[in-house]
Amino acid sequence: MTEKTHRGILVFAEQKDGRIHKVTYELLNKGRTLAESLEVPVYAIALGPKNMEVEELIYRGADEVFYGEEDAFNQPDELLYKENIVALINRIKPEICLFGATTFGRSLAPRVAGSLETGLTADCTELKIDEDGKLIQIRPAFSDNILAHIKTKTYPQMATIRYKEFSEAKRDGQRQGKITKIEAILLENPAVRILKQLQSNEIDISEAEVVVAGGRGLKSSEDFHMLKELAALLGGVVGASRAVVEEDYISSDHQVGYSGNRVKPKLYIACGISGAPQHLAGMREAENIVAINTDPSAPIFNIADVGIVGDLYEVIPMLINKINNQKA
Ligand code: FAD
Repeated sequence: MTEKTHRGILVFAEQKDGRIHKVTYELLNKGRTLAESLEVPVYAIALGPKNMEVEELIYRGADEVFYGEEDAFNQPDELLYKENIVALINRIKPEICLFGATTFGRSLAPRVAGSLETGLTADCTELKIDEDGKLIQIRPAFSDNILAHIKTKTYPQMATIRYKEFSEAKRDGQRQGKITKIEAILLENPAVRILKQLQSNEIDISEAEVVVAGGRGLKSSEDFHMLKELAALLGGVVGASRAVVEEDYISSDHQVGYSGNRVKPKLYIACGISGAPQHLAGMREAENIVAINTDPSAPIFNIADVGIVGDLYEVIPMLINKINNQKA
């Protein structure tokens, strides 16, 4: 049998202000399962400021963490990250590299793949190993109508995976592993200069426990105020279908669905949303789904735990009143 040229699974550990993004723990969970069937180690690379939580990556399943500490890593500069990740990949030669399909991951992973002249499958929803030990990258295609199974001929085999697709690796504070500092590569003439970072949303919708989402049943952008009021009373945030994002009723940060955010809240209230497959792709795993729609045959009712056939302009004010009265 010929010796493998590439071995191991590398997970990119995204961080902000030194705190690891939870998608990393999901990737480590899946990475461990794949590694066990391949009998190879799981590596993680974390680039960030001093005092990053690198041990957490060991507790969550990495066998070795490579970390680089520089203030420059606090800027989401894909070119800087790319240089450092490519250098590590060329050094340790993993057979698989996994990135979270976050805004940053989606921008970074193709640059790394381009530099290494290898393939990349974006937005995977499942990963498996075939009988030849190759990675099968599974993702919805053609508006979610088929699940494409993709194999990459070149190494490393690279994929981005949607946030909240896999469960997080359980934390084992006793777990041992190796932590290796890497010499960070800094760019003398960065091609990207961050002038200002804008806070795009008051809260990350993917993390919210309650989402009150509006669709084309709303008559104007102003009517989102009603949804915002209900969301605030329930300690949640506002979501939207693509139809109203395209109408400019609300910004795309709020979009839920196949080409928007994936959410898994405890409660999802769909107001005037028909329930197209592309919308369901982003919210069907909510613990409790309440749908308000005038059309009793709207597909959203097929997955709703509670269906209210009615006009949202009557039902939502009633709900707001009821909650206010209970609070009083
Ligand atoms: P509609 O389908 O028009 O539904 C409006 C609903 O409101 C109807 O069911 C109607 O009965 C109800 N209604 C009307 N008036 C009232 C009222 N007064 N009170 C109560 N109910 C009322 N869509 C997404 O949402 N997210 C995505 O990420 C996404 N990605 C896509 C990706 C691709 C590649 C494609 C092709 C499409 C994508 N779509 C996505 C679009 C999707 O197919 C639907 O067009 C969209 O979800 C419809 O939005 P909607 O339910 O708000 O509008």
